[in-house]
Amino acid sequence: MARKTAYCKLNGLEMSLIVLFLLMTVVSVGLITVLSLKLDSEKQVTPEEPSPSVSPPENPYLIGVGRADCTGPVADLPMMGYANTEQTARGLHTRLFSRAFIVDDGSKRVVFITADIGMISQRLRLEVLQELKAKYGDLYRQDNVVMSGTHTHAGVGGYFQYTLFMITSKGYIKPSIQAIVSGIVKSIDIAHRNLRPGRIFINKGQLVDSNLNRSPHSYMNNPEEERNRYEFTTDKQIVIMKFTDLDGDGIGLLSWFAVHPVSMNNTNRMVSSDNLGYASYAFEQEKNIGFLPGEGPFVAGFSSSNLGDSSPNIRGPVCVNTGEKCDYLNSSCPIGGKKACIAFGPGEDMFESTRIIGENMSKKAKELYSSAKQELHGPVYGAHQWVNMTDETVPLNSTHTGQTCKPALGHSFAAGTTDGGGEFNFIQGDTDGDPFWDGIRDAILGPPSNETTACHQPKPILFSTGEMDLPLPWHPAIVDVQIITIGSLAIVAVPGEFTTMSGRRIREAVKKELEVKESFANAEVVVAGLCNIYTHYITTYEEYQIQRYEGGSTIYGPHTLSAYIQRYRGLARAIAHETIGDLPKGPEPPFFNEDKLFNQVKDPVADVAQNGTTFGDVLQQVDPVYKVGEIASVTFVAGNPRQSGDIRDKTFVTVERFHNDTNSWEIVHTDASWETRFHWIKGRPGQSQSKVEWHIPLTAQTGTYRIQHFGHYKQLTDNTATPYVGTSDAFKVTKSFYYY
Ligand SMILES: [Zn+2]
Repeated sequence: MARKTAYCKLNGLEMSLIVLFLLMTVVSVGLITVLSLKLDSEKQVTPEEPSPSVSPPENPYLIGVGRADCTGPVADLPMMGYANTEQTARGLHTRLFSRAFIVDDGSKRVVFITADIGMISQRLRLEVLQELKAKYGDLYRQDNVVMSGTHTHAGVGGYFQYTLFMITSKGYIKPSIQAIVSGIVKSIDIAHRNLRPGRIFINKGQLVDSNLNRSPHSYMNNPEEERNRYEFTTDKQIVIMKFTDLDGDGIGLLSWFAVHPVSMNNTNRMVSSDNLGYASYAFEQEKNIGFLPGEGPFVAGFSSSNLGDSSPNIRGPVCVNTGEKCDYLNSSCPIGGKKACIAFGPGEDMFESTRIIGENMSKKAKELYSSAKQELHGPVYGAHQWVNMTDETVPLNSTHTGQTCKPALGHSFAAGTTDGGGEFNFIQGDTDGDPFWDGIRDAILGPPSNETTACHQPKPILFSTGEMDLPLPWHPAIVDVQIITIGSLAIVAVPGEFTTMSGRRIREAVKKELEVKESFANAEVVVAGLCNIYTHYITTYEEYQIQRYEGGSTIYGPHTLSAYIQRYRGLARAIAHETIGDLPKGPEPPFFNEDKLFNQVKDPVADVAQNGTTFGDVLQQVDPVYKVGEIASVTFVAGNPRQSGDIRDKTFVTVERFHNDTNSWEIVHTDASWETRFHWIKGRPGQSQSKVEWHIPLTAQTGTYRIQHFGHYKQLTDNTATPYVGTSDAFKVTKSFYYY
């Protein structure tokens, strides 16, 4: 059968790496030793068209926006997303930013953060809230601060406290989590400092050419009458918030669209903010004229939403070796199995696909931004609870109830998706399991209990993570549920990846509860994805029955969505009836001592400059002349980028243009620029090179340029990080080789 013919080649999908971990353990250490192995602003804004509504409101909101670099280490750490420990970072394409939006109604305040990272983890949220408390007392709290990750798969991991995520990230890695915590807090600091009276408008529209359902078989198992209410199998709606000051000058944009940031695939090794990050980048570059990327006062956040089954790879899946259609249920191919069934984006390569999907979102948001007329008025609310998701009861009908389960992952989880397949012979749509893997699992980790097995039916359990506690629990039990509202807009902060239909159901349920209050009569409800804590996927009950990847990854069992809907309805009801104060806080989540968390990423070894060179020397020089559209490339003797420590607000790369009149070099690009690529090439121990590419845009001015590379090295004799600079020869950029 096809499923037995799949190969094992490295690279995997979200979390399927865990399977690799298992096999390695079996081979090298033996069945019993696995656990011991693990134990060990500035105001200067482009003028806007004044918004076409009436005069400013009597009690305007106070609005603050802020953006801060949250890029962590760009070398050696596993990237967070495809769950492949072999896919470690080796450089930087675009920087990662946290974007903060604060809205105050005069007495209450809410904060929305969207950060260019894989997801918010419970550990990350708790550490951010600790820092906010130390700085601001009770101003920014668990109930009024929402943190959402864009779900880029090209940031690094290392910011989790539960064992499963620590395994795929190679541990809890201080420099990684610290960069994100500091970046998020700084973005709030900036927004806090520039709070000013302003106005907020919302608008929505359709973007039809930028996402595709990657599990149509699951989607089609939803009731027909429900499906008939929707034209598409993914949400095409894009909702935007437009923030202006009282003069109508734009200060920010916040937007939600449901698409996976997996345009950059699992062969990429450069840190990147992927398609949602590109949308922010493009929007901000247009608004912050004359500023380098990541600088300037206008902040444009593109947040994740119910992207669970929504792929940006809109050419769809195909068997790459034969060109045939993949199997509909299993997404596998007659030859090559599921590894051969890959979906591709609209572009020629992953970079172009990232740009196209990002540009589509940015352009649509711009159109909606410029035509936004519906103004938000009225109070803001924040409602939050902690819920023990392993112990929720939901009524199914008048006589029966359903129960959530201790977390567990199914066999299909290890299969991955058509955006990046997992390892071994796991396939999607598996409701039978596989005795071979079950045997290995039982020997190493123990079998799931009968109770958990029954609870998760029809999911064949691969990892009963809720029953695994060594060295620390493998998955969370206590989960955040949260809604914030601004006027008639409700932001439903969900703790994972809701599928299209799950998102529709929860939006509708929340809207119904809110609408009992007149001010919410026309409530707009958006789902913000990957918020506050990561709990994988949330499918509908019907989708769960098919057990494709998303169903196999719905960790609290078939009634997970119903339990969430019940809880979020409770929050919405409390907001509508102004009884938020009566909501029980729920059980507090654990905050594990740092000495209990493990870290398998060693400090980099001392750097060695290859024979007769020094750090920053050019090994491969630029050409003397390039035409626009070409790639200028230069290679330097380098240190490990991790020696540079906290790299936020710095750059590894500049592209500089020479000005004859002032006899000086002007920086035209940094490593945050889309046009630059910083590749770190790891050689023999301690020896490394930095290859810097400038993809010269067609719009580049002709003239004389140079490329500089900045880094640090450490030597055996001296453990201090010493800075170095490498500078290329000057070169010319011309529009045509004939007339330069
Ligand atoms: Zn995902």
